[in-house]
Amino acid sequence: MRTPSDFVAATVRHEIRALSAYAVARADGLIKLDAMENPYPLPQAVRERIAAAVALVPIHRYPDGGADAVKSALRRAFGIPEALGLILGNGSDELIQILTVAVAKPGAVILAPEPSFVMYRLNALLAGVRFVGVPLAANFALDTGAVLAAIERERPALIFLAYPNNPTGNLFAEAGIEAILRAAPGMVVVDEAYHAFAGASFLPRLAEFPNLVVLRTVSKIGMAGLRLGYAVAAAEWTTELNKVRQPYNLNALTQAAASILLAEDALLAEQAARIKAERSRLHAALCALPDVVAFPTQTNFVLARVPDAPRWFEHLRQNGILVKNLHGWHPSLEHCLRITVGTPAENDALLAALQTLR
Ligand code: PMP
Repeated sequence: MRTPSDFVAATVRHEIRALSAYAVARADGLIKLDAMENPYPLPQAVRERIAAAVALVPIHRYPDGGADAVKSALRRAFGIPEALGLILGNGSDELIQILTVAVAKPGAVILAPEPSFVMYRLNALLAGVRFVGVPLAANFALDTGAVLAAIERERPALIFLAYPNNPTGNLFAEAGIEAILRAAPGMVVVDEAYHAFAGASFLPRLAEFPNLVVLRTVSKIGMAGLRLGYAVAAAEWTTELNKVRQPYNLNALTQAAASILLAEDALLAEQAARIKAERSRLHAALCALPDVVAFPTQTNFVLARVPDAPRWFEHLRQNGILVKNLHGWHPSLEHCLRITVGTPAENDALLAALQTLR
């Protein structure tokens, strides 16, 4: 009798069988500094307003496919002009997939610097598109010359630039991105997942670059559980991207909660400011540790090279703290840990645990 494995082997693409599914680390009972979440829970009053709104959602109906209320809330909160197209995703992860599928014609190439966000490469693989990674320079700066040469050689349909970059934490030089936008024959996605902590954005420059798509998420500013990402671009782009999007990709509960939270300007700004202040303190404290290099960051995490990342990771976990061990991810990330900025108490716990490391 044939087994399920026989059918799988005969049916599922070999490059998918060769993958392992993205492992989300178990964090039960641990201080969670591994996933760039906002560490501050919502104030009770806001929770109650969300609860009241969610109670009224007609769950027996499909959600609003256009998610108009969320779109209006995003346009107001982030100053997105009506003239620009706006498309929403179930997290910006889904938008990366939509962008990838939209350009996936035979022979198409997707290009991104590396190391960068792993989903760019993964989605290209899933869509059957060739992915070209261009190594970053030694200090994690964008190697603009190498990217421009790769553009000339590969003519990529789509370029992803994380701005700031994950997992390195730095902002690439604006002039380099401008040169890439001018040279690219296709779409250039500037992924601003960490814009709230960066103080720099290409959103105000969309009118200058017809091939620019700005990708954002609300995951890092306190709404990771809602799964909501958005992309802003000329309407000509979003009209096409909307054809790839599943009609009801944003569920009704997310729509109800996001519409309320996005109106909380003061809360969102205050939490981002607190995270930035803690980031400076955490970065300085990590720099002060012997044999640790903490890289400059414009995000809500700090990339640090330590003497023995696997051992440090395990020591932290034994002490109830979960960070991300990037050792083995990419040659330039050897012995690197990525530490999300937590609350002052969480960061203190991390620093105390590092003091006891021998
Ligand atoms: N882009 C970058 C650069 C990221 O770091 C992340 C999250 N790790 C995402 C996109 C995806 O975020 P989400 O799907 O939560 O919106």
